[in-house]
Amino acid sequence: MQEHIQDAFKNAQKQIRKACDLYGECHLDQNKYEVISHPRRIIEVNIPVRMDHGSIKMFTGYRSQHNDARGPFKGGIRFHQDVNISEVKALSMWMTFKCAVIDIPLWGGKWGIIVNPKELSEGELERLSRGYVREIYKYIGPETDVPAPDVNTNPKIMAWMMDEYSKLVGKYSPGSFTGKPLTSGGSKGRGTATAQGGVYVLEKILELKWEKISGKTIVLQGAGNAGLTMAELLIHLWAKVVGISDSRWWIYNPKGLDITKISEIKANRRSVIEYSDAEKMGEQEVLEKECDILIPAALENQITGQNVRNIKAKLILELANGPITPEADTALQEMGVDIIPDILANAGGVMVSYFEQVQNNLNYYWEAEEVDTKLHKKITHAAADVYATAQEYSTTYRAAAYIVAMKRIFDAMKDRGEV
Ligand code: NAD
Repeated sequence: MQEHIQDAFKNAQKQIRKACDLYGECHLDQNKYEVISHPRRIIEVNIPVRMDHGSIKMFTGYRSQHNDARGPFKGGIRFHQDVNISEVKALSMWMTFKCAVIDIPLWGGKWGIIVNPKELSEGELERLSRGYVREIYKYIGPETDVPAPDVNTNPKIMAWMMDEYSKLVGKYSPGSFTGKPLTSGGSKGRGTATAQGGVYVLEKILELKWEKISGKTIVLQGAGNAGLTMAELLIHLWAKVVGISDSRWWIYNPKGLDITKISEIKANRRSVIEYSDAEKMGEQEVLEKECDILIPAALENQITGQNVRNIKAKLILELANGPITPEADTALQEMGVDIIPDILANAGGVMVSYFEQVQNNLNYYWEAEEVDTKLHKKITHAAADVYATAQEYSTTYRAAAYIVAMKRIFDAMKDRGEV
């Protein structure tokens, strides 16, 4: 059984425990850890879907709503065959800290459905998406819980879901889902926001360390919305992407990969294996190749106790959620590898989702430059905060990010009399 199926929630709790211990207030008051280390509500649904050949198949889905002291729940919907309750709970908890570290008034939630969408036809996927909304619509809404895309979900699916929600509540409700197409109330800049935020965070942290992106060699795990977009943005900053993977294959060329060609291959729903000018290899190998910066952008628990000692990169940017286990995290610290943690590195997505919500609620839409300026300002500010906190507490960027977030979370909970 895959490690992440067992451990994601426990791993998330361990990260929070560690930061709590560093941040004196939790140490003095155990109740604080108790309150934030568990989600408030877990919903399980079973969705009947009429398959193309006429039979009905049931699909199971979950929602974890972690905490809403700072605003409505926010978090992606994942379609994946390995989705499980532990993973969904962990992802919802990370969302709470992510929203707090970048200081937006939303709290953590996560949805997951156990399905391999590659095995469904377009019609089956639409019926599953709409069926899911029929099961959950009473628990979501623009002021309560606003889902967004995540692994294997995309703007088209968000548009189906928003449409179904609008029909069920009897009014057009674009603010019920984010990550929608522009024609259905989406925000300019949302498609690239996760990667763009990652680039801004990376630039800021490197700048504070007196370094630059240009000339750095990069390896990315994952060639999806987050990973491939990040590769496209990085080559414009003169970085050299030497390795990239999708779920099936890794490719590697120390002289650099042609990302435009790889984007064309992926746009045609094919694998990176079809790229000719590179070494091709099995699942984990490329993680262990020489590079300056390693960017996991696929799933949880990819760098573990088993492979961590083979990592050669000196800096890891976690574009995926939870790609490093706590055991590997400790080892990387001993090895002197800096990690820019997921709750900061991939927060650009939820930030622009928040901007989308604001625009939907105002029914007033911003130009791309306005979205980008706001994203840049807020996320570089958060990166600088995390960097300064790491110096202040002599700790890692991960612990620092949790400390920055925790202060805001506890202040909000205290104001509401929760702790
Ligand atoms: P996606 O479905 O668009 O892409 C995922 C990519 O990972 C695909 O290329 C897939 O082939 C690859 N992949 C899957 N399993 C793999 C494996 N075992 N080894 C190597 N590659 C594998 O998903 P995404 O939206 O890019 O999300 C990727 C990560 O980023 C997830 O952890 C997600 O939670 C996180 N994230 C995404 C967003 C967003 O806005 N999309 C925001 C924040 C965080």
